[in-house]
Amino acid sequence: MDADPTGPCTLHEAWHAGEVTNTTHNPQGGINMNVNCTYCGNPAGCMSSKEWYGRDYGSNIYYCRPCDAYVGTHKGSFTPLGTLANKELRALRSKAHAVIDPYWRRMGYNRKTVYRLLGEYMGTAPNDTHIGMFNNEQCQKVIDGFQAFMKKPVKTG
Ligand SMILES: [Zn+2]
Repeated sequence: MDADPTGPCTLHEAWHAGEVTNTTHNPQGGINMNVNCTYCGNPAGCMSSKEWYGRDYGSNIYYCRPCDAYVGTHKGSFTPLGTLANKELRALRSKAHAVIDPYWRRMGYNRKTVYRLLGEYMGTAPNDTHIGMFNNEQCQKVIDGFQAFMKKPVKTG
């Protein structure tokens, strides 16, 4: 099925109805970053934010219908923000963000500093220190202990 670009989006509804497959639709004619599903390893499908949300945010979504997993991209980009996440992992990532984001959003920390400290806490390299790349266990570690870690005295020198 093809989405009518001028009409209301039906693809997201089709997703929930279980009608979308990984090859249902690729709005960019085959552009993808060879993104594979975290769970089954199969190539992910790709759709635009307009098709996904019914509103054009200029970003895209990679998805795996059989695993009910997906991940978004930055605006104007086909680079995924991280790995595909199923419902459980999406919820954990959301909770992990709720722990981390206040530090730079309203507690006066520089965002880079927060992520440097997060990497220190997690033992991850800077390029891997993104919630969007964390798995269930890593998210749980953030939720369980990052606030306590941040209360420790800052190491100097
Ligand atoms: Zn999958």
